Amino acid sequence: MQLPFLILTLEKDSEMFADFFFPDRCVNCNLIIAAKTYVCELCKNQISFCNLEFEAENMLKEHCKTLFPVESAFSLMEFQKEGFSRELMHQLKYKNRPNIGEIFADWTIERLHFKQKPDLITSIPLHPKKMKERGYNQLHIYTEKIANSYKIPFDNELIKRNYYTKAQALKNKKGREKQEQLFSINKEIVGKHVLIIDDVFTTGNTMSMMAWEILKNKHNKVSILVMAHDY
Ligand SMILES: [Zn+2]
Repeated sequence: MQLPFLILTLEKDSEMFADFFFPDRCVNCNLIIAAKTYVCELCKNQISFCNLEFEAENMLKEHCKTLFPVESAFSLMEFQKEGFSRELMHQLKYKNRPNIGEIFADWTIERLHFKQKPDLITSIPLHPKKMKERGYNQLHIYTEKIANSYKIPFDNELIKRNYYTKAQALKNKKGREKQEQLFSINKEIVGKHVLIIDDVFTTGNTMSMMAWEILKNKHNKVSILVMAHDY
């Protein structure tokens, strides 16, 4: 094969070329897998997906109801402390792998069906200092993909975070006053059903503070969508 032809072929198939030399590997077991799937089938089978019906009653919704009025609640998977879902979440949040949000979104889209779509999607914001440290908000790729797939408008700037401290820490140390001001709304919305997205639902404290900020206007409603729950 003549050299110019070889170069031409390589350029044309540059993606295949890249795949050959830098193949995608399963984030858990390192097996070579198809591009942008992130996880091999074997590892995917280890995940406990919840398969909830969005509008139906479920444990997550029951839990939320003790904290704030909620329309619907959906969780993609159970958070496994020793398991693979924890590892994926860890990579998404702390190992500079924001694209893992994409695979979580794909898995969600396979399972989440709305009878009635929310009007607006937003996600839990990071404090600007945290955003700078991490370099990205781990929820944004996920949120955008979900919003685009269901054709629901999204606004990741609807709410801003006023304190760097975690909700739980504020609850323990600084008293209720600061806790109540953890978030503030950037623009007034009225009569909207807002779907709030977060990664892991544990105590529900953060979600609750966010929800109440939206529910300050009594004509709004909230539902929640989380990647995993752990309670
Ligand atoms: Zn694997």
